[in-house]
Amino acid sequence: MPKLSDVIAALEALWPPAWAEQWDAVGLVCGDPDAEVGRVLFAVDPVREVVDEAIATGADLLVTHHPLYLRGTTTVAATGFKGRVVHTLIRNDIALHVAHTNADRADPGVSDALAEAVGLRVTGPLVPDPADPAGRRGLGRIGELPEPMTLADFARRAAAGLPATATGLRVAGDPGRLVRTVAVCGGSGDSLFDDVRRAGVDVYLTADLRHHPASEAQQAGPPALVDAAHWATEWPWCEQAARRLDEVSERHGWALRTFVSRAVTDPWTAHAQALPLDEPTTSGAPR
Ligand SMILES: [Zn+2]
Repeated sequence: MPKLSDVIAALEALWPPAWAEQWDAVGLVCGDPDAEVGRVLFAVDPVREVVDEAIATGADLLVTHHPLYLRGTTTVAATGFKGRVVHTLIRNDIALHVAHTNADRADPGVSDALAEAVGLRVTGPLVPDPADPAGRRGLGRIGELPEPMTLADFARRAAAGLPATATGLRVAGDPGRLVRTVAVCGGSGDSLFDDVRRAGVDVYLTADLRHHPASEAQQAGPPALVDAAHWATEWPWCEQAARRLDEVSERHGWALRTFVSRAVTDPWTAHAQALPLDEPTTSGAPR
């Protein structure tokens, strides 16, 4: 069995820490470099449910997309939920490694996995990384649908390709308009609106869109917007990441077993549809 240090070296070759944003916190959070690794679990969020799953899976290493500590801390006491995660991991001999914006920027990266999940042929990054002479790395991806379809059909296709969450997908734009070219960005993508407009695509699929940026983007037009759950847009990366580590493991004869978490860790757990303003309420009284 490989040592944790060997597996971490492989993960850092796939997603070099140097590719992460300056504000990010990627890499090994806890774990003994000399410990042996046989099972690896991939997940989006380093939260309690996922740690429980790592224990149940017998994982020696948990790889998450989101950092446990994005900003510095002065305590890992188990009085807080993050400290509890650290304690539980250490007590169960499970290491934690984070690949966040370095995995976003990679080729293939988080947005490639998202594009593949919704059936796009990727033509290039939405925001190319100037440090990549091949022009393949960068934030977000631009892709093409196999044929033009209505915005409503594209939204249905995206919903079918992504794991289910309570909130589903929201659409901004005329549901009947035809779309073919798509920009995607896994996770919060409202900082890339200018790039999306410059790319001249028909629709932008991302997550966490807020009223003002979405409203302004719609007024400025023309790309339609499809807003999915943040967790759902990044989960496809876990399968891509597990496949890539499997390839490394095969090359080295490590016989690692990789697993992908099925825990839905999107914070939103239910959805209720309100009545339109011009409909009577259930009591029959106008409102
Ligand atoms: Zn994210």
